[in-house]
Amino acid sequence: MSRSASSRANRRGEPPPSPEPLPSPALDSHTHLDIVLGERPAGDEHGEWASDDDVDAEIAAAAAVGVPRLVQVGVDVPSSRWSAALAARHPNVLAAVALHPNEAGEGRATEGALAEIDRLAALPRVRAVGETGLDRYRTGPEGWAAQEASFRAHIRIAKDRGVALVIHDREAHDEILRVLEDEGAPEHTVFHCFSGDAEFARACVERGYVLSFAGTLTFGNAGYLREAAALAPADQLLVETDAPFLTPMPHRGRPNASRLVPHTVRALAEVKGVDLDELCHHLTTTAERVFGSWE
Ligand SMILES: [Zn+2]
Ligand SMILES: [Zn+2]
Repeated sequence: MSRSASSRANRRGEPPPSPEPLPSPALDSHTHLDIVLGERPAGDEHGEWASDDDVDAEIAAAAAVGVPRLVQVGVDVPSSRWSAALAARHPNVLAAVALHPNEAGEGRATEGALAEIDRLAALPRVRAVGETGLDRYRTGPEGWAAQEASFRAHIRIAKDRGVALVIHDREAHDEILRVLEDEGAPEHTVFHCFSGDAEFARACVERGYVLSFAGTLTFGNAGYLREAAALAPADQLLVETDAPFLTPMPHRGRPNASRLVPHTVRALAEVKGVDLDELCHHLTTTAERVFGSWE
């Protein structure tokens, strides 16, 4: 996620229509179904959570356009618990659990909260620790030490539990590489909503990291992202929505949903100059290598 969970500022208007289905199954490597469907303020255990029926309908709408695999991402203890529970009951969903860097920056990565993330990370369908990392845009310098300590703790949990690491990187490219190098990165490390240029992409690819592209790839002013995606090998690429944020073109500014990820998959096929069907196969193979099988 890129803003506070309660913000609706970038979700104006009617939900866009679903695109034409993909020719083969692909996935959404990073979504926040709880925020898409709920009104729960960040950190509030007792706010309004989406009903199972609404969640199931949203997942079915994604499957109907060739997106039968989702990774549901937690950003605090309540949403991480919710994500783990959804993954446990729904075959199309795996979970990632963490305290978001902006939560950590506000002092909420307590020992107790980290212990709960560690407990959840051991559950069979929790396959990643994230989103964690550094956010030097939303969090000011007074929160950076706490943010880095939390990032380091999350890296250790991912390694201990043998799951992937999902990184949130906002204006902190070099700092994140420094911390990863210092701690030693887990076997599977994903940069969610990759936001670097070609040079940073090269640095990530060399280290074996996976780049996950969001709807930002389709934006007119994002030539640098398309250059980054063009040079990444097929087996180090994923796609995501980060829904409800970052809606791809032609629906930028309206509410995002996993069923809209085909716009980003098609943009990526064009950037890579590869057949769409072939790209879908590559994305699924990479996702199953990183997160394990959905079955
Ligand atoms: Zn996110
Ligand atoms: Zn994020």
